[in-house]
Amino acid sequence: SSDEEGGDEYLFKIVIIGDSAVGKSNLLSRYARNEFNAHSKATIGVEFQTQSMEIEGKDVKAQIWDTAGQERFRAVTSAYYRGAVGALVVYDISRRSTFESVARWLDELKTHSDTTVARMLVGNKCDLDNMRAVSVEEGKALAETQGLFFMETSALDSTNVKTAFEMVIRDIYANVS
Ligand code: GDP
Ligand code: MG
Repeated sequence: SSDEEGGDEYLFKIVIIGDSAVGKSNLLSRYARNEFNAHSKATIGVEFQTQSMEIEGKDVKAQIWDTAGQERFRAVTSAYYRGAVGALVVYDISRRSTFESVARWLDELKTHSDTTVARMLVGNKCDLDNMRAVSVEEGKALAETQGLFFMETSALDSTNVKTAFEMVIRDIYANVS
Protein backbone atom coordinates (compact mmCIF):
# COMPACT_ATOMS: atom_id res chain seq x y z
CA SER A 1 0.00 0.00 0.00
CA SER A 2 1.13 3.55 -0.58
CA ASP A 3 0.65 4.92 2.89
CA GLU A 4 2.99 7.88 2.43
CA GLU A 5 -0.08 10.10 2.14
CA GLY A 6 -2.09 8.11 4.62
CA GLY A 7 -4.55 7.34 1.83
CA ASP A 8 -6.47 4.15 1.27
CA GLU A 9 -4.62 3.19 -1.86
CA TYR A 10 -3.05 -0.06 -2.90
CA LEU A 11 -0.94 -0.91 -5.93
CA PHE A 12 -0.24 -4.54 -6.73
CA LYS A 13 2.03 -5.82 -9.47
CA ILE A 14 0.68 -8.90 -11.23
CA VAL A 15 2.47 -10.79 -14.00
CA ILE A 16 0.97 -12.94 -16.74
CA ILE A 17 3.10 -15.87 -17.87
CA GLY A 18 2.69 -18.92 -20.06
CA ASP A 19 3.66 -20.14 -23.53
CA SER A 20 3.39 -18.03 -26.63
CA ALA A 21 -0.10 -17.59 -28.13
CA VAL A 22 -2.07 -18.94 -25.16
CA GLY A 23 -3.90 -15.61 -24.99
CA LYS A 24 -2.00 -13.65 -22.34
CA SER A 25 -2.17 -10.30 -24.15
CA ASN A 26 -5.84 -10.77 -24.97
CA LEU A 27 -6.72 -11.65 -21.38
CA LEU A 28 -5.12 -8.38 -20.34
CA SER A 29 -6.76 -6.31 -23.07
CA ARG A 30 -10.11 -7.92 -22.31
CA TYR A 31 -9.77 -7.14 -18.62
CA ALA A 32 -8.27 -3.66 -18.88
CA ARG A 33 -10.01 -2.31 -22.00
CA ASN A 34 -12.70 -4.86 -22.85
CA GLU A 35 -10.97 -5.46 -26.17
CA PHE A 36 -10.13 -8.62 -28.10
CA ASN A 37 -7.80 -8.90 -31.05
CA ALA A 38 -8.11 -11.94 -33.31
CA HIS A 39 -4.81 -11.22 -35.06
CA SER A 40 -2.74 -9.92 -32.19
CA LYS A 41 0.97 -9.69 -32.78
CA ALA A 42 3.34 -9.62 -29.85
CA THR A 43 2.72 -6.25 -28.29
CA ILE A 44 5.88 -4.23 -28.46
CA GLY A 45 6.41 -1.45 -25.99
CA VAL A 46 3.41 -1.88 -23.72
CA GLU A 47 4.85 -3.14 -20.46
CA PHE A 48 1.80 -3.08 -18.26
CA GLN A 49 -1.71 -1.77 -17.85
CA THR A 50 -3.29 -0.53 -14.69
CA GLN A 51 -6.81 -1.41 -13.67
CA SER A 52 -8.60 -0.28 -10.53
CA MET A 53 -11.22 -1.94 -8.41
CA GLU A 54 -12.79 -1.12 -5.09
CA ILE A 55 -12.48 -3.47 -2.12
CA GLU A 56 -13.95 -2.51 1.25
CA GLY A 57 -14.16 1.09 0.11
CA LYS A 58 -10.46 1.12 -0.79
CA ASP A 59 -9.08 1.98 -4.20
CA VAL A 60 -7.07 -1.06 -5.23
CA LYS A 61 -4.96 -0.78 -8.38
CA ALA A 62 -3.53 -3.74 -10.20
CA GLN A 63 -0.52 -3.05 -12.41
CA ILE A 64 -0.69 -6.02 -14.74
CA TRP A 65 2.40 -6.90 -16.77
CA ASP A 66 2.41 -8.56 -20.16
CA THR A 67 5.49 -10.30 -21.57
CA ALA A 68 5.54 -8.46 -24.91
CA GLY A 69 6.50 -11.72 -26.60
CA GLN A 70 9.85 -12.46 -24.89
CA GLU A 71 8.50 -15.87 -23.87
CA ARG A 72 9.13 -17.08 -27.42
CA PHE A 73 12.85 -16.74 -26.71
CA ARG A 74 12.56 -18.32 -23.26
CA ALA A 75 14.02 -15.17 -21.82
CA VAL A 76 11.50 -13.53 -19.59
CA THR A 77 13.84 -11.50 -17.44
CA SER A 78 14.00 -11.25 -13.68
CA ALA A 79 13.00 -7.59 -14.00
CA TYR A 80 9.65 -8.77 -15.27
CA TYR A 81 9.01 -10.69 -12.06
CA ARG A 82 10.55 -8.16 -9.66
CA GLY A 83 8.08 -6.98 -7.05
CA ALA A 84 5.21 -9.14 -8.33
CA VAL A 85 2.67 -10.12 -5.69
CA GLY A 86 0.37 -12.00 -8.06
CA ALA A 87 0.68 -14.19 -11.14
CA LEU A 88 -1.60 -15.70 -13.75
CA VAL A 89 -0.08 -18.81 -15.28
CA VAL A 90 -1.89 -19.36 -18.56
CA TYR A 91 -2.25 -22.34 -20.88
CA ASP A 92 -4.51 -22.94 -23.89
CA ILE A 93 -7.07 -25.74 -23.32
CA SER A 94 -6.85 -26.64 -27.03
CA ARG A 95 -3.04 -27.12 -27.03
CA ARG A 96 -1.75 -29.79 -24.67
CA SER A 97 1.91 -28.69 -24.94
CA THR A 98 1.02 -25.37 -23.33
CA PHE A 99 -0.40 -27.25 -20.32
CA GLU A 100 2.74 -29.34 -20.12
CA SER A 101 4.79 -26.13 -19.95
CA VAL A 102 3.01 -24.95 -16.82
CA ALA A 103 5.47 -26.72 -14.50
CA ARG A 104 8.36 -24.87 -16.12
CA TRP A 105 6.59 -21.52 -15.75
CA LEU A 106 5.87 -22.24 -12.10
CA ASP A 107 9.55 -23.06 -11.56
CA GLU A 108 10.61 -19.83 -13.20
CA LEU A 109 8.11 -17.90 -11.10
CA LYS A 110 9.41 -19.57 -7.96
CA THR A 111 13.00 -18.72 -8.89
CA HIS A 112 12.27 -15.06 -9.45
CA SER A 113 9.66 -14.21 -6.85
CA ASP A 114 8.51 -14.47 -3.30
CA THR A 115 6.73 -17.60 -2.07
CA THR A 116 3.75 -15.50 -1.03
CA VAL A 117 2.78 -14.59 -4.60
CA ALA A 118 -0.95 -15.14 -5.22
CA ARG A 119 -1.08 -17.56 -8.14
CA MET A 120 -3.86 -18.62 -10.45
CA LEU A 121 -3.72 -21.33 -13.09
CA VAL A 122 -5.75 -20.18 -16.09
CA GLY A 123 -6.99 -22.52 -18.82
CA ASN A 124 -7.77 -20.00 -21.56
CA LYS A 125 -9.78 -20.39 -24.80
CA CYS A 126 -12.57 -22.37 -23.11
CA ASP A 127 -14.77 -21.24 -26.02
CA LEU A 128 -12.85 -23.85 -28.07
CA ASP A 129 -14.49 -26.70 -26.20
CA ASN A 130 -14.80 -28.77 -29.39
CA MET A 131 -10.98 -28.68 -29.72
CA ARG A 132 -10.31 -29.35 -26.06
CA ALA A 133 -7.02 -31.17 -25.35
CA VAL A 134 -6.90 -30.65 -21.57
CA SER A 135 -9.87 -31.58 -19.39
CA VAL A 136 -11.21 -29.31 -16.67
CA GLU A 137 -10.38 -32.05 -14.15
CA GLU A 138 -6.72 -32.10 -15.20
CA GLY A 139 -6.48 -28.35 -14.79
CA LYS A 140 -8.12 -28.49 -11.38
CA ALA A 141 -5.91 -31.35 -10.25
CA LEU A 142 -2.70 -29.58 -11.24
CA ALA A 143 -3.82 -26.41 -9.49
CA GLU A 144 -4.67 -28.31 -6.33
CA THR A 145 -1.35 -30.13 -6.28
CA GLN A 146 0.54 -26.86 -6.69
CA GLY A 147 -1.67 -24.83 -4.38
CA LEU A 148 -3.00 -22.44 -7.03
CA PHE A 149 -6.42 -21.05 -7.75
CA PHE A 150 -7.89 -22.40 -10.98
CA MET A 151 -10.21 -21.02 -13.61
CA GLU A 152 -11.01 -21.63 -17.25
CA THR A 153 -11.44 -18.41 -19.20
CA SER A 154 -12.16 -17.08 -22.64
CA ALA A 155 -10.68 -13.76 -23.67
CA LEU A 156 -12.78 -14.15 -26.84
CA ASP A 157 -16.23 -14.34 -25.21
CA SER A 158 -15.17 -12.83 -21.84
CA THR A 159 -15.95 -15.90 -19.73
CA ASN A 160 -14.39 -15.58 -16.25
CA VAL A 161 -11.78 -13.00 -17.31
CA LYS A 162 -12.81 -10.36 -14.79
CA THR A 163 -13.43 -13.03 -12.15
CA ALA A 164 -9.94 -14.51 -12.58
CA PHE A 165 -8.10 -11.19 -12.24
CA GLU A 166 -10.30 -10.04 -9.39
CA MET A 167 -9.84 -13.28 -7.43
CA VAL A 168 -6.09 -12.78 -7.54
CA ILE A 169 -6.39 -9.11 -6.58
CA ARG A 170 -8.73 -9.93 -3.68
CA ASP A 171 -6.39 -12.62 -2.43
CA ILE A 172 -3.42 -10.23 -2.48
CA TYR A 173 -5.50 -7.59 -0.71
CA ALA A 174 -6.61 -10.08 1.96
CA ASN A 175 -2.97 -10.87 2.66
CA VAL A 176 -1.77 -7.28 3.05
CA SER A 177 -4.71 -5.40 4.52
P1 GDP B 1 -0.06 -14.41 -26.14
O1 GDP B 1 1.06 -14.72 -27.06
O2 GDP B 1 -0.10 -15.42 -25.01
O3 GDP B 1 -0.06 -13.00 -25.65
O4 GDP B 1 -1.44 -14.67 -26.93
P2 GDP B 1 -2.38 -13.60 -27.68
O5 GDP B 1 -3.21 -12.87 -26.71
O6 GDP B 1 -1.55 -12.81 -28.61
O7 GDP B 1 -3.34 -14.59 -28.48
C1 GDP B 1 -2.84 -15.54 -29.40
C2 GDP B 1 -3.93 -15.93 -30.38
O8 GDP B 1 -4.98 -16.61 -29.67
C3 GDP B 1 -4.58 -14.74 -31.07
O9 GDP B 1 -4.90 -15.11 -32.39
C4 GDP B 1 -5.84 -14.51 -30.27
O10 GDP B 1 -6.85 -13.92 -31.05
C5 GDP B 1 -6.22 -15.93 -29.85
N1 GDP B 1 -6.95 -15.98 -28.57
C6 GDP B 1 -6.60 -15.38 -27.41
N2 GDP B 1 -7.49 -15.66 -26.45
C7 GDP B 1 -8.43 -16.45 -27.01
C8 GDP B 1 -9.63 -17.08 -26.51
O11 GDP B 1 -10.03 -16.97 -25.34
N3 GDP B 1 -10.33 -17.85 -27.41
C9 GDP B 1 -9.94 -18.01 -28.71
N4 GDP B 1 -10.68 -18.79 -29.49
N5 GDP B 1 -8.81 -17.44 -29.19
C10 GDP B 1 -8.08 -16.66 -28.36
MG1 MG C 1 1.36 -11.50 -25.95
